[in-house]
Amino acid sequence: MRRSRKTKIVATLGPASHTRDHIRALFVAGVDVFRINMSHTSHGNLTTLVETVRAVESEVGRPIAILVDLQGPKLRLGKIEGGERRLETGKTITLVRAETAAGLEELPIPHAEIFAALKAGSSLLIDDGKVRLLAERVTDSRIDATIIQGGMVKNNKGVNLPDTLLPIPALTAKDRSDLDYALSLNIDWLALSFVQRPDDVAELRKAAAGRAGVMTKLEKPSAFRVLDEIISLSDAVMVARGDLGVELPLEAVPGRQKQIIQAARHAGKPVVVATQMLESMILSPIPTRAEVSDVANAVFEGADAVMLSAETASGAFPAEAVAMMDRIAQSVETDPLYRNILNAQRQDPEATLPDAILHAVHDVTHTINAAAIVCWTKSGSTGLRAARERPDAPILALTPIREMARRLTLAWGLHCVETEDAHDLDDVAQRACQIAFAQGFAKPGERVVITAGLPLGTPGATNMLRVAFVTGKNP
Ligand code: PGA
Ligand code: MN
Repeated sequence: MRRSRKTKIVATLGPASHTRDHIRALFVAGVDVFRINMSHTSHGNLTTLVETVRAVESEVGRPIAILVDLQGPKLRLGKIEGGERRLETGKTITLVRAETAAGLEELPIPHAEIFAALKAGSSLLIDDGKVRLLAERVTDSRIDATIIQGGMVKNNKGVNLPDTLLPIPALTAKDRSDLDYALSLNIDWLALSFVQRPDDVAELRKAAAGRAGVMTKLEKPSAFRVLDEIISLSDAVMVARGDLGVELPLEAVPGRQKQIIQAARHAGKPVVVATQMLESMILSPIPTRAEVSDVANAVFEGADAVMLSAETASGAFPAEAVAMMDRIAQSVETDPLYRNILNAQRQDPEATLPDAILHAVHDVTHTINAAAIVCWTKSGSTGLRAARERPDAPILALTPIREMARRLTLAWGLHCVETEDAHDLDDVAQRACQIAFAQGFAKPGERVVITAGLPLGTPGATNMLRVAFVTGKNP
């Protein structure tokens, strides 16, 4: 089974997509990575979902990645008397440091850190920014605020502080328990929400200890001041447009999306564009023109993956949404303008031997019109470097490590194959040809460009480029 699409599809699992039949249908429609959101998933459900994806994976015979998305330090209101109340624009309101507030004149927020860090003149947003407050006076237990944009507020609604750097750890107690549990199930990627600083990523890296890739969700304005540092500590990043669009003016989000994609592609780290991509397909079998254009633009920008959230987790048309995304990506990728754009944006190699080799691999492949690029990769770095080049030819990533085959399925253009490590240089070439043939990437008489690190099995030591003819013998 091979896909002809380079851009990958991430789909979130939920009530609309939890059975084996659902998950198989989503895979067949085009999903490469399944996301499980720990804000809405119990450990029991996580176990079942992981087992079900693995069952589908062995059935279809292709590696599938599982991305577990940690909630992070999401701030929420406490409990309001009567469950809800209306805030009127122009009036004032007092926020108190408590789980519940007795009177109607106060709103409870059970996070001491907000009272410690918020400054007068800073904004406080409630319920995805629908209600906006401006802090006037802050003490360690009370905040007097003006209601800039009023509306209904309800129990436990989310709170965002766009212009405040909070002195809170990136991983909450819930995140730590979720990540330990998820790692025990052998999942492939851990995503962390509301990352503010490089240390937040370092903390997750330490906890993951190489057992899963670390994906940073970029949804806090403060992260942009240290974007390159955050990207270099991450294995992948997500343009988390949901919360980003709350914390920044909506019109600032497209520019930040371009900034993140550019920076991640320069670093050779996979980048996922997320949230509201085909939002109207939660209810409708057909998306809006604007949504189609949004997905297409992310593909034109060279993103590694586009993501579906509620469309597949709880929508009425999960498989249709994936199929739509698949068609949009294929259509863009076969448009001559796509190739022109990617070529014009071609990254200079970083000054390392692996990058120099992969740059040459791209050039040789193009010059001799080779059928495919085949890279042997153990740490994943050769595969990611090949993807960074965004070549026209398909890329096969051969790895002896099953977990690496799964993890790399997130990356642009990589067709991952688990295979035992090559024994010697002849085996490197022969098996590359055999697998490219067997998986439908090259016909007898065609050539493939092979890259690996010698001595074999040394991670990150890519130093070999070889061209071989495919003969058509099966492995
Ligand atoms: P969420 O993250 O769906 O977990 O909030 C994505 C986003 O904010 O866009
Ligand atoms: Mn978010």
